[in-house]
Amino acid sequence: MDDAAAEKVARNNAAFRAANEGIAAAAEEHGLDDGRRVPFICECSDPRCTEIILLTLPEYGRVRSNPRWFAHASGHDADVPDAVRLLEDHGRYVLAEKVNHAGDVAAGLADEAIRSTLASAWMRRNGGKLPTKRCSVR
Ligand SMILES: [Zn+2]
Repeated sequence: MDDAAAEKVARNNAAFRAANEGIAAAAEEHGLDDGRRVPFICECSDPRCTEIILLTLPEYGRVRSNPRWFAHASGHDADVPDAVRLLEDHGRYVLAEKVNHAGDVAAGLADEAIRSTLASAWMRRNGGKLPTKRCSVR
């Protein structure tokens, strides 16, 4: 797989990851963190994939603990040479790792998402204004 194709895979995965993070946050808010299975969207690289996978919030949290890890429906591109590697098969879902360039892009996008979440939280707290004062700590 060339770098451009790998990048496309990673960007698509990142879009599903963002959607699933929203689902996880909503599920937590509604008290579904009691071991119940929550429906998530398959995070494979097919942009048309609409398969639903069921994970408990702790299972989902474990997937998110590594920016290169994704949850796929069983059999969904779990093994793409040079881009995706199958780590674990849980039956209901598989844990796949993006490797090489796809892994680097996936990790970079996770980083960007965290930064923009932090930035918007800061903006909300500060009435939509960006910081103007310089940090005085030396
Ligand atoms: Zn899929």
